[in-house]
Amino acid sequence: MPQYKYVLEEKDVPTQWYNVLADMKTPPPPYRHPATLELLGPDDLAPVFPMALIEQEVSQERWIDIPDEVQDVLKMWRPTPLYRAARWEKALDTPAKIYYKWEGVSPPGSHKPNTAVAQCYYAKEEGLEGFATETGAGQWGSALCFATQLFGLKCKVFMVTISYHQKPYRRIAMETWGGNVVPSPSSETKAGRDILEKDPETTGSLGIAISEAIEYAVTHDGWKYSLGSVVNFVLLHQTVEGLEARKQMEMAGDYPDIIIGCAGGGSNAAGLIYPFLKDKLDGTKPDLRAIFVESTACPSMTKGIYAYDWGDTAKTGPVCMMHTVGHSFIPAPVHAGGLRYHGMAPSICALLDQGIVEARAYHQNAVFEAAESFARAEGFIVAPETAHAVRAVYDEALACKESGEPKVILFNNSGHGHFDLAAYDAYHRKELPDYELDQVAIDRALAELPKVPA
Ligand SMILES: *Cc1c(COP(=O)(O)O)cnc(C)c1O
Repeated sequence: MPQYKYVLEEKDVPTQWYNVLADMKTPPPPYRHPATLELLGPDDLAPVFPMALIEQEVSQERWIDIPDEVQDVLKMWRPTPLYRAARWEKALDTPAKIYYKWEGVSPPGSHKPNTAVAQCYYAKEEGLEGFATETGAGQWGSALCFATQLFGLKCKVFMVTISYHQKPYRRIAMETWGGNVVPSPSSETKAGRDILEKDPETTGSLGIAISEAIEYAVTHDGWKYSLGSVVNFVLLHQTVEGLEARKQMEMAGDYPDIIIGCAGGGSNAAGLIYPFLKDKLDGTKPDLRAIFVESTACPSMTKGIYAYDWGDTAKTGPVCMMHTVGHSFIPAPVHAGGLRYHGMAPSICALLDQGIVEARAYHQNAVFEAAESFARAEGFIVAPETAHAVRAVYDEALACKESGEPKVILFNNSGHGHFDLAAYDAYHRKELPDYELDQVAIDRALAELPKVPA
């Protein structure tokens, strides 16, 4: 019988985050100002983010200390377990050894509080009163509401109107954790009022919600804006996953040949992958493969271009170099709401452009087929986002069956799907569309990219 799970003790919660930028030969190029397109300075970001996070964003230090108070909160659910998917291996009849890091044990049910907690600590240190943010289906909003109240901060969440009405459960969770949730567009900001005036029946979008959250933060004393993915400091905070997993893989006596994660903005995947990728960047493990998996509905890495683009639809956030399908591209309403971001974390894009990591995309039905196979063997019903990673593992495991190679595959099981069962239901009823990508829409969005001076 194989050992099924590898569990660390509270004292094994990492005391430092790993900063991949320190080990990249060519780090991603610097951000540009959203209006002038000139190089962006720390002062430009100061009204938006806490200063400590702006410093982390541009830090070249390899290791950054995790404050004791942050470690203390992380210990509520960390270290998270690493599982060997032995029953799934058997079901797939593969010689591959499959491991997964299980992030669904956090109170909000995903990896997202790993950064929410750190951001709230620095906000509290800076004497802030609260954070404003946006949320689509509510995963990020619930992680931030959970974290803000632990640090005595307020949380204002602009939730895309259609999700506010269609997906009430995460809203109720956010309110239970003390958050103030309003449907976006709202009448509380100028950005929201302008949209409502033109189109009172609008169902909203993430881009509008971002504009409202940023406006709310910069127009309220003591408030700043919090972001749940994409930027360097968020990926940095997520490296607790990979740092723990390294110890757990050591306990298992294995080292991964392939590491896989799903990628919306890229934070959960990078959090697991970067601490291992360090070995590839320094030449110790040249053959290590890292795969970032996205949705065919929003294929920034597999169909987008590597260019400067605005981080948000409203063009209020920094302009960064990334694989993008264009800030104005509106993806089809797939169930993996967390994978509908038009761009990707700049560090991942630089690594992809340099051929150090890989990317692939899947349709919804393929994704749920694999997630169901996983659930029947391992029990866990994963989030629709996570299911993309599960599909890539499934394909790699079947490739091993074909070739007879006993490869070691590690993936990030980023969260549970208990609030997303309607998506599984749609899959069972064969009502899940596989969206054929509208290349014309992508081309139209790409035509609106900023013209950044060389
Ligand atoms: C939000 C979310 C994602 C996608 O976000 P990343 O920043 O790419 O990690 C993936 N999985 C789950 C469970 C999520 O909630």
